[in-house]
Amino acid sequence: MELTSIAIFGVVVFTLLGIFFGFALAATARRFYVAVNPVIESVRACLPSANCGACGFAGCQAYAEAVVEEAKTPANLCVPGGKAVAEEVARLSGKVAEQMEERVAVLRCHGTTAYVKEQAEYLGIRSCTAASLVFGGPRACKNGCLGLGDCVRVCPFDAMTVDQLGIVVIDSKKCTGCGLCIPACPKNILELYPAARRIELSCVAREKVSAVRAKCAVGCTTCQKCVNACPAKALTFDDVTIRIDHKACIAYGPGCAEVCVDVCPTFILHRRGQVPLLEELAHPSGLDHGQ
Ligand code: SF4
Ligand code: SF4
Repeated sequence: MELTSIAIFGVVVFTLLGIFFGFALAATARRFYVAVNPVIESVRACLPSANCGACGFAGCQAYAEAVVEEAKTPANLCVPGGKAVAEEVARLSGKVAEQMEERVAVLRCHGTTAYVKEQAEYLGIRSCTAASLVFGGPRACKNGCLGLGDCVRVCPFDAMTVDQLGIVVIDSKKCTGCGLCIPACPKNILELYPAARRIELSCVAREKVSAVRAKCAVGCTTCQKCVNACPAKALTFDDVTIRIDHKACIAYGPGCAEVCVDVCPTFILHRRGQVPLLEELAHPSGLDHGQ
């Protein structure tokens, strides 16, 4: 067969094959066609695509399907999306826009390497969970931050860093309150506070005063000066740690001038977002203001 004939034969064969597979694909697509609900697509489009799972579903698509198709799934589960997304999801899915409290993660520890004694050098893998399995971690306080960043690694919003003094710093402007960092921390010292909080508490104080003092220069001594000073009765001591009733604190308003913060001898209470500066924290002697 000459060359031209071979070429023509090839073109014909491949054209026929193309037509055949084209029809086969069209038939398959028709056979397995799944109708897409346009409302699900609209809801999916208004979600932030973080796929963080804070809604309790396996990503934005799964939540969009659930909120449109299941009557029991509320419209306000997308924490990163906040109020605006909740309202839009409610509008699209024909549900009631329920109220949504904005929250942010707060680290309940100020135990930087300037304050907490190191008992040993940890040479294992750079993970808080791994380090805490070895005698609770290398730092003397077994309740505080280990600074190896398990929480930082799970935050999808880049809101957390470990600073040069080995403690986590949270950027509350970036934090969406999704809560993914909470279970990542083996020390259970990350907590979601209302975004409108007035004060923050930076110690979990799970031991007796003498034990806390021996390990950390900025540990809560549970002196309860804050509890006694608060006119709103928003602070309580439950025999282990100080607790904040944020609703009572916020409702009382600025009339108290956050007196609890000013009476705290160890700077464990501070005003919203006003974590003591690194320079202050680097000089423990400068912290003690009249205990
Ligand atoms: S907050 Fe918890 S998870 Fe994050 S660095 Fe500290 S110990 Fe590790
Ligand atoms: S800020 Fe005021 S109302 Fe709130 S806990 Fe402190 S003293 Fe009480």
